[in-house]
This record gives sequence, C-alpha cells and structure tokens, in this order.
Amino acid sequence: MRELAENLRERKPAYAEFIDFYEQISMAQEQAKKDLVSTPFKSAKPGIEAELKEGFPLLDKPEIPVDVPSSVSLFKKLLEIGRHVNQKLQQNIESIEHAISSERLDIGEQVRRHSDEIYRDEIALHARIERSVLKFLVHMSIQPSLQLLGEQIKDTVDTRSWLRGYCPVCGSLPLVSALKGEGQRFFLCSFCSFEWQSERLKCPFCENNDHQTLHYFYAEGDEACRVDLCEKCKTYIKTIDTRKLSYEPDLHLEDIATIHLDILASEKGFSRPVSSPWGME
Ligand SMILES: [Zn+2]
Ligand SMILES: [Zn+2]
Repeated sequence: MRELAENLRERKPAYAEFIDFYEQISMAQEQAKKDLVSTPFKSAKPGIEAELKEGFPLLDKPEIPVDVPSSVSLFKKLLEIGRHVNQKLQQNIESIEHAISSERLDIGEQVRRHSDEIYRDEIALHARIERSVLKFLVHMSIQPSLQLLGEQIKDTVDTRSWLRGYCPVCGSLPLVSALKGEGQRFFLCSFCSFEWQSERLKCPFCENNDHQTLHYFYAEGDEACRVDLCEKCKTYIKTIDTRKLSYEPDLHLEDIATIHLDILASEKGFSRPVSSPWGME
C-alpha cells in the first residue's frame, strides 16, 4: 500500500492530501482484517446456484453480518485519523464523540445496522453530524468484514456467469470498473468491494449494450483511466485499464486520483449513479 500511494502521489501531486488520508485508513483496515477469524462461506438460502442464475444476489444487504467488536474498534481508530485531516472532519468527529458520551450514538448499533439509512440519518440529524460523514465512517469500519466475506465467497461460489450490472454478493451498483488480463472487464462493488466479471461493452446501470450509444473518453496524456458514457441513460462509469499500468492498482485509490474525470463527465451532462464515498458530499 505504501508503495502504491507513493507512486500515485508522484504522478498526481494535486491529490496528495487525499491519498495520505486513504493510505492511513487502508492501513488501519488491513490491520483490523488480520485479526478477523475467517469461516468458510455457507449460504443460508437453499438452491443458491438457481437463485444466482435468476439474478438474485447471494445476500440481502441489511442482513450481511459484520464483526461488531472489530468494526467498533476500527471506527474509533478512524476518529483518531480523521480529526487531523481537515476542519470539516474535525468538527464532525467532535459531534460524534459528544453523541457517544451522551449515549445518543452507539457505534455497535451503527455498524450492525450498516444499511439502515433511515436509522443512521435520524441519529446524525439529532447529533448534528453530517450524514455523509457518519455514512463514510460506518462504511469504512465494516470494510474488513465485507472484504473477508467476499474472499470466502470467491472460494466457494462461481460467479463467472453472473455478468450483470449489480453485485452478485449484495446487489449494489459498481463504483468503478477495470480491464484486466486479456481485456476482460470487472466491476468493483460500491458497498462490499467484491469484484465480478461482466461483458465488455455494456452500461451497468441500464444494461444497454448498443455500440452506437456507448462511448468513452480519456484525459489527455493518461490512457490508464477512461470514462465510459451511456447516451441512453446519461450516466458514466470510470474504467481503469490495468494493462496500461506498471503496477497492480488499488481501484479505490485510482478512483480518488481521477476526480478530474468526474468533473469532465459532469460538464458533458453525464451523471454518476454511485459517487465516491471519499467525496463525502
Ligand atoms: Zn457487493
Ligand atoms: Zn445506461
């Protein structure tokens, strides 16, 4: 991770501050993941293969189990990291700590109910915490559990014939996509970070596969990341061409370091269905 971040900081100095923040968080996540106990994935649903074939994801997002004590301790670590990043985070972290000490916010409940937006937003509102900040912290705190789950699923369930625009594990939309190997395309889940293979020419958001209405553009001088545009639903997704990079990229980090492409796409009138959690808008 350190090397990856270093490399990117050199290539994209404008993003240095963001990259530092990401690096600190992902090191804390890696540490937390090391202490998690891995148990083989067993689906609670019978006939899982048939369900997958029909397009039903393996799990219901709100019921995805996370390691609560580990997520709580990571959440607390993120508060320590975040308070030194900028004023906005510092203020929010103060409100969070105040809400914890006055028992208006229970971190354990927050991570357990990770997909209950109504619950989270209500507490954020009462405790004067920005919704996006609380969401970001919860999301980052449960990532080690979700990533471990994804690895276990990869070992037991064959998702190669899935090819859909949403995640086979949790049903969420992709954050970015990547071209790998001989040009196979993969999507990265915006919620659980699972990567699944898809068709090369297809809009994940409306399933459009008509060549006439699918285009892309690059930033000048950087062909490693392109923006795939769909004229039909007016959305876009960034695609990292890993074959054009000399290193194995971290897709979240590449997403952060290509925010200029999001700006260009938005100027062209295209929207991004899933924004980066790092934007915290
Ligand atoms: Zn997912
Ligand atoms: Zn589309």
